[in-house]
Amino acid sequence: MLGIRGFAYHAGTVLAPELRPGPGGVSLKSEKSDDARRNPGAKGMCEMVSGSSGRRGHALESCIVAVAAVLLVAGCVQSAEDAPSEGVCIEIEEEGGLALKDLTPEEEVVIVQKGTERPFSGEYNDHREAGTYVCRRCGTPLYESDDKFDSGCGWPSFDDELPGAVKRLPDADGRRTEILCATCGAHLGHVFEGEQLTEKNIRHCVNSISLEFVAAGESVDGARDAGPSATATAYFAGGCFWGMEHLLQEVDGVTEVRSGYMGGRTEEPTYHEVASGRTGHAETVEVVYDPTRVTFEELARLFFEIHDPTQVDRQGPDTGSQYRSAIFYTGNEQKLAAEKLIGILKGKGYDVATEVTEAGRFWEAEEYHQDYYEKSGGRPYCHTREKRF
Ligand SMILES: [Zn+2]
Repeated sequence: MLGIRGFAYHAGTVLAPELRPGPGGVSLKSEKSDDARRNPGAKGMCEMVSGSSGRRGHALESCIVAVAAVLLVAGCVQSAEDAPSEGVCIEIEEEGGLALKDLTPEEEVVIVQKGTERPFSGEYNDHREAGTYVCRRCGTPLYESDDKFDSGCGWPSFDDELPGAVKRLPDADGRRTEILCATCGAHLGHVFEGEQLTEKNIRHCVNSISLEFVAAGESVDGARDAGPSATATAYFAGGCFWGMEHLLQEVDGVTEVRSGYMGGRTEEPTYHEVASGRTGHAETVEVVYDPTRVTFEELARLFFEIHDPTQVDRQGPDTGSQYRSAIFYTGNEQKLAAEKLIGILKGKGYDVATEVTEAGRFWEAEEYHQDYYEKSGGRPYCHTREKRF
């Protein structure tokens, strides 16, 4: 089933689940550190609401009130009386230099004017191929097919997004939570929690027209005709994050590295808590890179050479599970590349202890841990490069 979980729902039996407002304004990625790669001149965009009941292509001017008759079918759509009576302006940061695809009038109604395509009409509603769904406008990977499930609501549904790819904002209707492409601000749809549809208990209800599908094996980057500056993200744990951050930051094509925590059980962990070894988190670096300049595999090769992947729950002088070796992948391609490299190393006799698991939430570490060696002027005490491949 290509990793797509099937649910015994049929259109008509699951319609109109209770609408539950999601948590407001939660962005999976910390905003403050994105400054470096965002245009400081944030561009204002207007959030509006439009609807359709078979009358598509009803273009609307920015910030002009538009309330069309909206079909109440499921969580993605609201009833006309619930629609807001006035437009609301929300600031959306736009990535500097990001080339955006020219939109067709139909795409613009949804992506820019925040309309909703008719249920069961989109090309990806009943789509089960393995691959990645990228933003139709900027090409940034947003969802993996592994996280797509059949909710029966009439729109593509996912119970997880790629880390940092999707931004959440309180919807203008005051109840729902809108989801947008974190890179370009394209309207995607809405997110609902607590419906008990999947284990993760989350449903990203996304308009097909906001997405473009890239089959597994095809280059996701290749789909980014309009977005040569789109970035990708990798997560590595290999001992003290000071040294990992320092050495990965020096790689051409890496635009940003942050130190933080991943892989544990607690929310918003502090360094002190992680250092206790009781949270389960590993000191992890988040590496944002330009995949047209450096590939994940190249980064992972470097990762395996700047720390000792054979050490278990320690790295050099640092001991404890927080110093374990791990790759937290953000997509199947990263997973396969990591496993391939581990296979090569094992073939060379290395007893690799690196765990390869799916990325969870990345918790940014305290400010004093960021750019530690740049601030202190020192060199990493436990990370030097050693050729292993
Ligand atoms: Zn986008």
